[in-house]
Amino acid sequence: MTRTASLFRFYEELNDFLPEERRKREFPVEIDRARSVKDAIESCGIPHPEVDLILVDGQSVDFSHLLRGGERVSVYPMFEALDISTLVRLRPRPLRDPRFVADGHLRSLARHLRMAGFDVLWDNGWDDDEIVAFSLLQKRTILTRDKGMLRRREVERGYFVRSIRTEEQLHEVVRSLQLESLVAAFSRCRECNTILEDVAREAVIERVPPKVRELYDRFRFCPGCGRIYWEGTHYQRMKQVIEYAVSAPGRKEED
Ligand SMILES: [Zn+2]
Repeated sequence: MTRTASLFRFYEELNDFLPEERRKREFPVEIDRARSVKDAIESCGIPHPEVDLILVDGQSVDFSHLLRGGERVSVYPMFEALDISTLVRLRPRPLRDPRFVADGHLRSLARHLRMAGFDVLWDNGWDDDEIVAFSLLQKRTILTRDKGMLRRREVERGYFVRSIRTEEQLHEVVRSLQLESLVAAFSRCRECNTILEDVAREAVIERVPPKVRELYDRFRFCPGCGRIYWEGTHYQRMKQVIEYAVSAPGRKEED
């Protein structure tokens, strides 16, 4: 049987999934018989939810497009800031009402995102099937550091979190998914994901420590779990973390 190949090139963050020798350059991918472009992309190790635009010989195509060999294929990541408004994107434009489900290892990121105002489901007891089910049922973007989960066929929305430290993860997610304008700091309960309500001082004063009574006048209340929030030391620290999250990357290196 004669084997043919198509030439692939992956752009921007998609290179994170490739071995060094395949990054930022064209390389051949074998196409024996007709093969869907999605299948060929995944054979390179790229989870399909990370892909937002595919050009085959300059034309945008969807995942089911069949390759026969000889084509030039360019693959772009989600949310890539290119002007591609005239081309077919593989999914609706981001996330104006972004909702997430975080995998079990990302508890701290889930809590940080909630503090920044985002709707994030997280439960240590959920297995991959349950996380995928929440994603599909409620159109939530899966946040995970498990590439295998994003490679599952049924997954439509997902983001592979590259960073390790929580503060960097928050910065990465906010910047990569272009969420800056949607941050609503301290509007959501970090423990249970419920929207917080303003509450009169008198209504909660008996329930907070004496020191807090002396120092703070403004309180917020979680109708989900009953927690009371005030602008204490944790608040001040989180405020800095959220300011960092919406800052431009590499800000510290700029002059
Ligand atoms: Zn709560």
